[in-house]
Amino acid sequence: MEYNTHPALPEFEYIRPATLAEASDFLSHHPDTARPFLGGTDVFVRMRDGFMKPDFLVDVKNLDGTNELRFDPQAGLTIGAAVNMNRVSASPEVQTHYPLLAEACRSVASYQLRTRATIVGNLCNASPAGDTTGACLVFDGVLHIHGVDGLRQEPLATFFRGPGKTTLKPGDIVTALHFPIPPEHCMGKYIKLGRNQLSDLAIVGVTALGHKDSTTSSGYRFRLALASVAPVPLMVTEVETYLADNPVTPDAIHEAARLAAEACSPIDDVRGSARYRKQMVRNLSVKALTEVWKKLN
Ligand SMILES: Cc1cc2nc3c(=O)[nH]c(=O)nc-3n(C[C@H](O)[C@H](O)[C@H](O)COP(=O)(O)OP(=O)(O)OC[C@H]3O[C@@H](n4cnc5c(N)ncnc54)[C@H](O)[C@@H]3O)c2cc1C
Repeated sequence: MEYNTHPALPEFEYIRPATLAEASDFLSHHPDTARPFLGGTDVFVRMRDGFMKPDFLVDVKNLDGTNELRFDPQAGLTIGAAVNMNRVSASPEVQTHYPLLAEACRSVASYQLRTRATIVGNLCNASPAGDTTGACLVFDGVLHIHGVDGLRQEPLATFFRGPGKTTLKPGDIVTALHFPIPPEHCMGKYIKLGRNQLSDLAIVGVTALGHKDSTTSSGYRFRLALASVAPVPLMVTEVETYLADNPVTPDAIHEAARLAAEACSPIDDVRGSARYRKQMVRNLSVKALTEVWKKLN
């Protein structure tokens, strides 16, 4: 029997609500059959491949405020849900204050894909392999969500519930992603290990952010986030604590990287074995933390 790995896109109805209230109302009344979308780079591929079959696709790209990218020196950065990754990485404010975010965006697939793909779509897709998730976590991202009961905010740290699962409820639409002002003179690094340079998801992704901090014993604070090595994107708090409490030396960085490998729980899949992933978390954490530490000095 012939097996078609790429069946055609199933039929669906395209819905373009005029307001957020209308969009939330429609989605809440069709919890099992309607789906919001932005760039569609996850949604359409999953529909084509038969993993998803919504009757209605609700286009939330043109709703209030979702196209804004705004920086305020006191409040921080707000990225509307519909702002694509190329716009984020080209923004002078992002390049100046959140260069790690621009670096993470540029690691996603190709320029062409990034003209459609959004950070909010990457987050809502809730893949543990999402490339922008680590940067959003270490910068303390907060999602602005419009639901049937109005607006609320949700820190990214509590948003992910499992592969493809988030705290979003039927009718919820993420309208924007907000970041506070980052610590002064902070430095970051994202290392993505993929099977090729283009269009592949991470086998392992390591995001490190560090800054000098006079309130810690070591005089530094580092944050480390990991992709593709647990059911949800992982912030390794053990690394932050260890490098805050102990003098930062090459040995301390190796110990922090060992803690990172210990904290993750990867699986075997087509892109790599669990054992390989753990080893790569250790190696790439040393590399990312060392690079950040050197930049800070
Ligand atoms: C060829 C190819 C290569 C890729 N390479 C990479 C890669 O290297 N790294 C990587 O991380 N990803 C990769 N991806 C996956 C994808 O491009 C990203 O996850 C992208 O960021 C998704 O954004 P989007 O705007 O297209 O999301 P969509 O496809 O529009 O939506 C994604 C999910 O979010 C939900 N959603 C969308 N908008 C909202 C909203 N406002 N509120 C609530 N829920 C919402 C949708 O229902 C869906 O479940 C690749 C995809 C393709 C097709």
